[in-house]
Amino acid sequence: SGAGIARVDLDGRPIRPLTICMIGAGGFIGSHLCEKLMAETPHKVLALDVYSDKIKHLLEPSTLPCPWAGRIQFHRLNIKHDSRLEGLIKMSDLTINLAAICTPADYNTRPLDTIYSNFIDALPVVKYCSENGKRLIHFSTCEVYGKTIGSFLPRDHPLRQDPKYYVLKEDESPCIFGSIEKQRWSYACAKQLIERLIYAEGAENGLEFTIVRPFNWIGPRMDFIPGIDGPNEGVPRVLACFSNALLRHQPLKLVDGGQSQRTFVYIKDAIEAVLLMIENPARANGHIFNVGNPNNEVTVRQLAEMMTQVYAKVSGEAALEEPTVDVSSKEFYGEGYDDSDKRIPDMTIINRQLGWDPKTSLWDLLESTLTYQHRTYAEAIKQTLSKPIAS
Ligand code: NAD
Ligand code: UDP
Repeated sequence: SGAGIARVDLDGRPIRPLTICMIGAGGFIGSHLCEKLMAETPHKVLALDVYSDKIKHLLEPSTLPCPWAGRIQFHRLNIKHDSRLEGLIKMSDLTINLAAICTPADYNTRPLDTIYSNFIDALPVVKYCSENGKRLIHFSTCEVYGKTIGSFLPRDHPLRQDPKYYVLKEDESPCIFGSIEKQRWSYACAKQLIERLIYAEGAENGLEFTIVRPFNWIGPRMDFIPGIDGPNEGVPRVLACFSNALLRHQPLKLVDGGQSQRTFVYIKDAIEAVLLMIENPARANGHIFNVGNPNNEVTVRQLAEMMTQVYAKVSGEAALEEPTVDVSSKEFYGEGYDDSDKRIPDMTIINRQLGWDPKTSLWDLLESTLTYQHRTYAEAIKQTLSKPIAS
């Protein structure tokens, strides 16, 4: 870790301490990135967000002196309308933009907010970086790939088994979205356009950029548990939906049969990839990187089954006899929902440029994550369940 030892990059050059403007630092990924930067590097972070709950332990450490005192500074601001943004970018060596509406329940129900958040609000960040000659690491999504080519073949077609028809490659795969009425794709489309704009700023104006495409990063502090640290009726991403059901001893809801496939990567593995990008600009600039774990593929149904088993183990509570229940996407998400069928990241580019590989198996990452969920929420849930319902 940090002090004293000379840190070097992948090419053996010393790493000089950076000031990083991190937008969306109070979110799930931001909180883990701040933690890593404080614990293991000498870098400074200007942390921008509208919320700070998930990084409170870094901003107000319980034991003083702490190794990162003075290296993280929180700025509560909304980048939609705050004139401080450009100044903070100018003060920094590097900007990392994580801010976005990024929960599928919002894409078809709040498509305007989704498009504004993922495209319009990101524009000034790109512009300030480009105009001031500052490096940008922008967070996009694996969803820019949309559906696989293979998903359009007949169900039993042998080519569906051919990796050419489903593996997602940064520099080759097309972006395949549904029709405009399928508002699910408003997010992916906005992310695609901001990627194209950043790429064009690189090509025409020399912007030094890196684009990250996360493939279902999961772990502690992801999203919220409805009724505990988020709205009762809120619908978070699948990890928190399933955790909430397990904590409340309710069946896990499988949308449209739970047949979609996902690859899940442990947040702590993924953050190592981001740190490599931060500290190896010569290897990361100008690149788009898939960051995921191709070995951790499951259907959503298999995820539900595994989480049920893992939760029984870590909580010591027996699983329900019928642990899952089917719901239609229309019932669960409303009109305009659609889904990505399968997401296997090609790892060639990140492996070649940064030598990064994910390490943690799905079982292990679920075990540590559900242990955290149980410790953090089980007592609070018990209390809300024992309270009489207000009339
Ligand atoms: P998150 O919702 O936990 O974090 C986003 C943070 O940005 C939140 O704290 C939010 O308050 C903040 N924010 C949003 N709008 C803002 C604004 N106008 N001004 C200031 N702050 C604002 O989500 P996350 O999982 O940490 O995702 C971070 C980024 O990674 C997003 O761009 C998302 O699209 C992308 N991503 C994440 C995943 C994943 O697996 N977690 C997958 C694909 C893409
Ligand atoms: N899903 C589900 N039940 C839930 C929440 C999500 O079956 O309670 C499904 C959803 O339809 C999708 C997958 O789980 O197929 C992953 O959803 P998530 O919200 O994590 O985001 P995505 O990977 O689609 O971006």
